[in-house]
Amino acid sequence: MNVRTFKRGIHPPYCKEATGAKPIERAGLPQRVVIPLLQHVGAPCNVTVKKGETVEEGQKIGEPTAFVSAPVHATISGKVKDVVSWQYPAGGKVLSVVIEGDGSAKDWHDEGHTGGLDELERLGPEQLRAIIKDAGIVGLGGAMFPTHVKLSPPEGKSIDTVILNGCECEPFLTSDHRLMVEMPERVVWGLLAIMKTVGASTGYIAIEDNKPDAVSAIEGAVKEAGVDNVRVVLLETKYPQGAEKMLIDAVLGRKVPLGGLPMDVGVVVNNVGTAKAIYDAIKFGKPLIERVVTVSGNGIREPKNLLVRIGTSFEDVIGFCGGFNHREDEEVAVLNGGPLMGVAQRELTVPVVKGTSGITVLAGRELKPQEFMPCIRCASCVDACPMGLMPYKIADAGRLNVTSIFREFSGSACIECGCCAFVCPAKRPLVGWIRVGKINLRKEEKKAS
Ligand code: SF4
Ligand code: SF4
Repeated sequence: MNVRTFKRGIHPPYCKEATGAKPIERAGLPQRVVIPLLQHVGAPCNVTVKKGETVEEGQKIGEPTAFVSAPVHATISGKVKDVVSWQYPAGGKVLSVVIEGDGSAKDWHDEGHTGGLDELERLGPEQLRAIIKDAGIVGLGGAMFPTHVKLSPPEGKSIDTVILNGCECEPFLTSDHRLMVEMPERVVWGLLAIMKTVGASTGYIAIEDNKPDAVSAIEGAVKEAGVDNVRVVLLETKYPQGAEKMLIDAVLGRKVPLGGLPMDVGVVVNNVGTAKAIYDAIKFGKPLIERVVTVSGNGIREPKNLLVRIGTSFEDVIGFCGGFNHREDEEVAVLNGGPLMGVAQRELTVPVVKGTSGITVLAGRELKPQEFMPCIRCASCVDACPMGLMPYKIADAGRLNVTSIFREFSGSACIECGCCAFVCPAKRPLVGWIRVGKINLRKEEKKAS
């Protein structure tokens, strides 16, 4: 099989040895969960339960208020303790429902693969979209874009291809890898459901070449499904291979225009975990109440791939993995996600949300923010940028609030992958400054409109 890739990017240490071969383990039922009413791109949900009310696992507790939104569900049975503003892993606070569990767990009869394409023959695109929406499914790779919206191309846009993203290029994370190895039939079935929903004729499952066991498991599942319009594509292990635009370029050679979307080139990209969640929703009527989270890094005692209820606190998840592992003189950083795109957490009471693919715990003496140095114009950041941007230029434009330069050099096209900051010898916090540039530009555009 040919190995395909995109231009530029980086090869960081992948650090996946601790969990890559570890089977997914179901975490214990948490005593308490905190369910944010905004776990997606778009409008927050309206809460539909009150303090003191009894709720059942899987019950809808937040209703979408707009098309670009997704419902949220109780992930354990119990009593609503509070509806309160709570720390959110991506930063800031979000109105959230706090549930104290009664210790019971519902049986969704979702063990094993039930096979057969009967449901897909019976259900039309509208019905599939409604099930996906009702189950609260969003992009599980971290983007958390509501899936029913992604699978509703506007009139005039036709989709011929669906790509499932099984790259998992971020260091430490192995939750998608394990899903492909352990539940390949569900992933392939979910892909067929997505293809039917958008009317695509071809499906690809893109996997990096550092996951040969996932490649053979998925190839076996495609064969078993007996379909001839789904192919596995092998990609070079390189960061950020899983970014939508890089993926479409590597798999199909199609270029998404600057400021455009995959649907502009006839493509929809979904994560393998999202496909598996779609399978669960259609086959078992199970909403998105749990997900696989990789807990890894040198600062965790027992690294694991854990199946965790959404809303479980980071503290509880770390506890399920034996707690921290560091010396007294070392700092510890806990990240929501991997080290390149993850967000450092100040409080461990933050809940796992639908987009939490991993919790990375790093321990060491060098974890404090390093002093940055003046730019030496080495152009390493330019050579690494997968979007073909000039990171030093747009970062400075962001830092100095020069929106004309930020716009001229297409700062908004930055996908915040972190490649530039990773290679910068002067340790300049380029991504942070680019984020500031985007905020400044949005403010300016809002003022002008
Ligand atoms: S400028 Fe943006 S897209 Fe380019 S490397 Fe830096 S973070 Fe990635
Ligand atoms: S890598 Fe760092 S030092 Fe080199 S040009 Fe880019 S910002 Fe400047």
